[in-house]
Amino acid sequence: MLSIHAMRMDLVTTEAAVLEGYRGDQAGLLGHLSHLARPTSAAEVQECIAWARAKGLDLLPVGLQSATTGAARPEGGAVLDLRGLAGVLDVDRAGRTAMVLPGTVTADLKAAVAAEGLLYPPDPTSEKESTLGGNVASNASGARSFRHGMTRDWVLGVEVADGAGNLRWHQRRAVDKNTFGPFAFHDPVDLFVGSEGILGVITKVQVRLLDAPPPFLGALLFFRDLQTALEAAVRLRQERDLPGAPASPGCVELLDRCALDLVATHPQAPSLPMTAQAALFTEWDAPDGDLLGRLEALLPRFEALGAVVDWTLPALTRRELELFRELRHHVPESCNALAVACRDQGGMKISTEFCVPPAGTLEMMRFVEETRRETGLHLMVRYGHIGNGHPHIFMYARETAEVGAIKAVAHRLCRRAVELGGTVAGEHGIGKSRRDFLGYMMPPELIEALAAVKRVLDPDWIFAPGNILPVPSGRRGSSR
Ligand SMILES: Cc1cc2nc3c(=O)[nH]c(=O)nc-3n(C[C@H](O)[C@H](O)[C@H](O)COP(=O)(O)OP(=O)(O)OC[C@H]3O[C@@H](n4cnc5c(N)ncnc54)[C@H](O)[C@@H]3O)c2cc1C
Repeated sequence: MLSIHAMRMDLVTTEAAVLEGYRGDQAGLLGHLSHLARPTSAAEVQECIAWARAKGLDLLPVGLQSATTGAARPEGGAVLDLRGLAGVLDVDRAGRTAMVLPGTVTADLKAAVAAEGLLYPPDPTSEKESTLGGNVASNASGARSFRHGMTRDWVLGVEVADGAGNLRWHQRRAVDKNTFGPFAFHDPVDLFVGSEGILGVITKVQVRLLDAPPPFLGALLFFRDLQTALEAAVRLRQERDLPGAPASPGCVELLDRCALDLVATHPQAPSLPMTAQAALFTEWDAPDGDLLGRLEALLPRFEALGAVVDWTLPALTRRELELFRELRHHVPESCNALAVACRDQGGMKISTEFCVPPAGTLEMMRFVEETRRETGLHLMVRYGHIGNGHPHIFMYARETAEVGAIKAVAHRLCRRAVELGGTVAGEHGIGKSRRDFLGYMMPPELIEALAAVKRVLDPDWIFAPGNILPVPSGRRGSSR
């Protein structure tokens, strides 16, 4: 039964069967909620915010709840589903920009601009199951971040409804110079990129676009040992910045042996070399469209990187490229499914998302291996964006008793990453499950400064409580 709370009847529901579908994100744990609000315009978002404040309810903005950190898992109160604000409002072909609503599925945005001969470069693996608003709020990135950077690099402006009743447009300034106070305040857009829902609700986004890319091919390079694959990845990363170096790939993605075993379970997986201990997925431009010729020209380079050239699997057609992406996506999907299986025994998936500078990548991965051996982890999957110094490290507590020990491993890895000049969250943000890592990166006074900004923009502390910042005792918002 629908309930009315001094709001339009169709905006809010308390129907248990509907609420059930919003209890968790992809972290594998379930939360709870008492209300679901489904606005379809910025004005309705403001209405929902005013309603939640009046009722003293927490309000968690969500896109498709594909977060893996608990960031999109409600812990009481209302969920604000932004999927009703979807669509590409305008594509400026000449200016290479688009105005987009936040609930637009990222893959739909990419398809819409591709139809105009343009590219929206960010490519989170989850692009078919996440929204632009969620991508901005978690500063998503993907395989092609090796060449194109993160979502932040493509956001020109955001419209945000805050908890103080404002609906404001924030635009990046296209100036060559700016000395307006602390750099962090030059572009308020950057307050909201990566803010994980805690500072307001993103209701519109302007993105920057590129011309459609030249034809390119995929090549899955196989290595006899993990170390050679890692060294190859670091070399490709270093060459990327060297003037006069040969052309760089668009992505450099690691699959360790465990990840390859998961790929092999995909129904359309090709046969993979059984003795390979690691692979790198790479993409290479072929500006003249001669993909086969380009592949042949690349083979000596692959060999020089230490790959076993005879094992190379190319992707030369659109369908083959798409299949390669599906195979890669199958790894985190399988890992998340394993997390759900562990949850049923009181266990969980515990992953790290550290990102280290190129010079620290080999030492970090040596430390990961040393830690794996020392702690006797039964399963560790090393997968993903190694070209950016950011492999996903997936570990599993099979039951409650293992959780503490594996969390301690994650802390150990994150501390080492920070020592090497890296970050504890190269992707996926902090959410609820990584809040303990915050202190490795930020001194207490800066955590308090972030909390102070939140208090101004969200006076009742109702937005996404528990994300990034601990919930202060005595706040007005509640988690009924
Ligand atoms: C199989 C799989 C693969 C993945 N691969 C990648 C990857 O390659 N790269 C990557 O970066 N991430 C990846 N993710 C994580 C996830 O997809 C991203 O974090 C994504 O950006 C979340 O988008 P969403 O629409 O699902 O947002 P949600 O999960 O619903 O929300 C994520 C965060 O954004 C906030 N939020 C959502 N919409 C708004 C809004 N309009 N205004 C304010 N706050 C908002 C939420 O409060 C929450 O804090 C993956 C996840 C899965 C399950």
